[in-house]
Amino acid sequence: MTARLKRGDKLVVATHNPGKVWEINKLIEPYGLAAVSAGDLGLKEPVETETTFEGNARLKAVFAAEGSGLPALADDSGIEIDALGGAPGVYTADWAGPKRDFSIAMQRVHDELVALNGWNGEPLRANFISVLCLAWPGGDVQFFEGKVYGAVVWPPRGGNGFGYDPIFVAEGHSETFGEMEPASKYAISHRTRAFDHFKRAVLDDAG
Ligand code: IMP
Repeated sequence: MTARLKRGDKLVVATHNPGKVWEINKLIEPYGLAAVSAGDLGLKEPVETETTFEGNARLKAVFAAEGSGLPALADDSGIEIDALGGAPGVYTADWAGPKRDFSIAMQRVHDELVALNGWNGEPLRANFISVLCLAWPGGDVQFFEGKVYGAVVWPPRGGNGFGYDPIFVAEGHSETFGEMEPASKYAISHRTRAFDHFKRAVLDDAG
């Protein structure tokens, strides 16, 4: 039988990205797990050397599980833009440069789409994707994936959220993720959808 997590169990949130720590903590909160972040445990951030979301999620989760002796949950995520053949994809964070400045990343999306088809900012199909990896101290790993479909738009709008939120509009919505209330964003986000699979498979009390 698959191992499960119950109220009071410790879980390492294996990310150093404050936006992700916040969102994952919000998701975990109702299940009464004692979440600790990799940063709080003094764990380093491993270099993401893999070329797939699964590979990088596994690398981060296994590193944290081995370093802490606790189950660890990592997210590897990104934005895939159809007109760019799925780029930036697994390189989504890299487009923000060494200082992780997401105004640079969004500008690059803009410039590449302008170079490609003279983009004037009208919605172009894109999706966010999140792959969660749960690593157990014994070495087992489990994966859970979620996507949210929508479009990239220009110019950027809204100061909420993080990363590429100001240029992403989810299907059926008119506000960007950067304009939406955080609760409305995480009700439909790729990370929440991946988390839904995670909670059904692993968490007690999950409806
Ligand atoms: P990584 O998973 O650490 O490789 O980073 C993925 C990058 O994708 C993040 O740094 C964000 O820029 C972007 N990203 C992932 N999820 C979201 C989201 O919910 N909103 C905006 N950007 C996101």
